[in-house]
Amino acid sequence: MTSSADLQPELDAALAAVRAASTLTRGAQGRLLAGDTLTKSDDSPVTVADFAAQAIVSAILTESLGAIDLVGEEDSDDLRGPDSDTLRLGVVDLVRSQRSEEVDEAAVLDWISVGSADGTTERYWTLDPIDGTKGFLRGEQYAIALALIERGEVVLGVLGCPNLPNGDGTTGAIFTATAGTALGWYGTTSAGHPIQVASPASLSDARFCESVESGHSDQGQSAKIAEQLGITADAYRIDSQCKYAAVARGDASIYLRLPTRADYREKIWDHAAGKFVVEQAGGIVTDVHGAPLDFSHGTKLHANRGVVATDGRFHDEVIEAVGAVLA
Ligand code: AMP
Ligand code: MG
Repeated sequence: MTSSADLQPELDAALAAVRAASTLTRGAQGRLLAGDTLTKSDDSPVTVADFAAQAIVSAILTESLGAIDLVGEEDSDDLRGPDSDTLRLGVVDLVRSQRSEEVDEAAVLDWISVGSADGTTERYWTLDPIDGTKGFLRGEQYAIALALIERGEVVLGVLGCPNLPNGDGTTGAIFTATAGTALGWYGTTSAGHPIQVASPASLSDARFCESVESGHSDQGQSAKIAEQLGITADAYRIDSQCKYAAVARGDASIYLRLPTRADYREKIWDHAAGKFVVEQAGGIVTDVHGAPLDFSHGTKLHANRGVVATDGRFHDEVIEAVGAVLA
């Protein structure tokens, strides 16, 4: 794996990009107007803030690092059609509010298009500019997830969680991971603090997290798995890769993502950053069969089904219970 020192320019650029996207999206949340949201062909929602955040991240990465391959969730074609005028103008306005009134529409669309790589090159970035858009629209949790992948392995992850409660009355954090180091960045202080997974005294004391959306993870089966493991605490339901952040810093010790459809394949941008933060904080992340997540198949995790992330200590027991319940 590339050492952390070699990736310092990439880490600096990624942290700045996720910081800027966190500020932009947090400002936009709760202020969206009619016409600011579109339903994509896969029936999932996307907002002006998703597109604007992708533009900002692409702009900052390319200004700092030069040309990059980026697999971004959003597609600028969704803004180019004649029916997209309102949406496109909303995106351009948001980007201008963050950068400068001088930015023109073509530049914004070009930045969004930077994210059209397909994940088949030796080295590429992947971005979910707003992971958990449904949570974002509810005024709840979402994440900005950015990762760098080299030869099918994640080597750097940055996760912005602008609404995450920190337990001390403050809200919002960014998590970064490079080989051997996971840090949490809180408030506007300049230093990151090391974070670590936490293990309960026994598995029955564990807290597990899962999606708020029952269509994204099978909540009936997770309840059965919890019962099998003797876990009595209620599931911690939270949108987006904030679930990985919760495991990485010990707010929870298990994240279950259980397939709701046999044909669904997880998208790389929904997992790359989060899984790397958990691993560098001492945890283990696999699919429901215990296999490592394999980022060498383009934009989807074609070789995997679902996800199980844990503190590491109880991973084998959790995988065994998942296997027994899903069988
Ligand atoms: P979460 O906030 O954890 O519920 O996950 C949000 C992500 O779920 C979105 O970014 C989608 O890419 C993804 N998603 C959409 N449909 C499904 C599905 N059927 N199974 C798993 N994930 C899904
Ligand atoms: Mg997502």
